[in-house]
Amino acid sequence: MKKISIIGGGIGGLTLALALQQKAIEFQLYEQANSFEALGYGLQLSPNVVRIFRKLGIENQLATISHRCLGFELRSFDSDGILAQWKLKSDVPYYQCRRADLHQLLFNSLEDHSNINFSQPLESYQQEDNQVVLNFKDKETITTQALIGADGVRSVIRGVLFPEDKAEYAGYAAYRVILPFKDDYKSLWGKATVWMGENHHVVAYPNGKGGQKISWLNLVLVIKDSNWQEQSWTIPADKQEIARNFTNKSALLNNILEDLVNNNEPCYKWGLFIHQPLPYWSQGRVTLLGDAAHPMLPFQAQGAAMAMEDAYILAECIAQKEDIKTALIKYQQLRLKRTAKVQQTSKNNAQIFHATGIKAMVRDLGLGLISSVNGDLLNQKTAWIYNYDVSKN
Ligand SMILES: Cc1cc2nc3c(=O)[nH]c(=O)nc-3n(C[C@H](O)[C@H](O)[C@H](O)COP(=O)(O)OP(=O)(O)OC[C@H]3O[C@@H](n4cnc5c(N)ncnc54)[C@H](O)[C@@H]3O)c2cc1C
Repeated sequence: MKKISIIGGGIGGLTLALALQQKAIEFQLYEQANSFEALGYGLQLSPNVVRIFRKLGIENQLATISHRCLGFELRSFDSDGILAQWKLKSDVPYYQCRRADLHQLLFNSLEDHSNINFSQPLESYQQEDNQVVLNFKDKETITTQALIGADGVRSVIRGVLFPEDKAEYAGYAAYRVILPFKDDYKSLWGKATVWMGENHHVVAYPNGKGGQKISWLNLVLVIKDSNWQEQSWTIPADKQEIARNFTNKSALLNNILEDLVNNNEPCYKWGLFIHQPLPYWSQGRVTLLGDAAHPMLPFQAQGAAMAMEDAYILAECIAQKEDIKTALIKYQQLRLKRTAKVQQTSKNNAQIFHATGIKAMVRDLGLGLISSVNGDLLNQKTAWIYNYDVSKN
């Protein structure tokens, strides 16, 4: 019987737990927090990840906590108009939901919670021939057959595998907030909207609880900022600073920013960091998954999606291979190339969103032309990400 230990109960760790449960593979999950934090901001779940919910048998439940995105819109900070818009072409939905609701759904979908262990921060591990020894803070050591590091962007396990790996500040700060959805924002319904400006951009999309009932507007505001910020998701932001930093000529965006300043919803700021793709993730009985393996800039909205793809495929490999070490190598072979390409694409998008001067003019003209002639060309840019099916490897 294989005994798997998962470190981290984030989106990747919980998805792995669900996928292993589906295959009746024994596991224990260790989470450092006392309980799951209800971080309220939004997540976009593109068709490649919705296919995983389908396979896990929880797509209908996902639909009840999500708003369905039918297309995309690009706008400019310099005008009130729309630069480009196109409909998503996919037979699988694209959803937008609150992270806390998604987390709760994954957790509630586990049949047995007795193998989810809270308040268990892993401090270190030692790999032996037939087992891995796990050392938790102020707890007894535990032995396991395989160790999966789903412990996020500041992974302890990545730190052991790659002590030299360092994050490089990307030069961007991001603010994140959700606002109660108002009638004034109606034109944002059914889509993801990006306002682009010199060295900054804003992403806005509705979040809903209960199918089409929209309750929230999710905002991510990104700006070039040369000051180093801590790589944390919970540093409170100064809302007046946001209003100053995002001056623009769009009546709708100004309305939203005014609401943001006057609203009591918490708003967080953090620095964005670049991690180079790792050469491998699996070493013997240990591997990495999600942000621990491939932290990425959020400019393609694929971090959680890649964590879930990793988790589903890792569970498949563990189920198919008798030997755990072979399973972990197979998993890495299936995932390294795709996740590195998504990391790079997310990075490249910053250049597009934040273009200045003549480059911005060419971008705006080009996008407008393409979307008016054949919006499908814009769908083709993301087809390799969204059309991916985890079960067809
Ligand atoms: C601004 C922004 C917008 C984003 N938008 C999207 C989006 O729209 N769509 C999308 O797909 N992705 C998005 N992402 C990315 C996404 O949020 C992450 O990629 C995803 O949450 C990674 O999941 P994970 O399970 O790997 O890590 P995490 O969710 O960080 O989970 C790691 C878990 O491990 C635990 N842990 C850490 N260390 C230890 C330890 N030593 N011992 C025990 N437990 C430990 C932590 O407490 C945590 O629960 C966005 C990210 C940002 C910054």
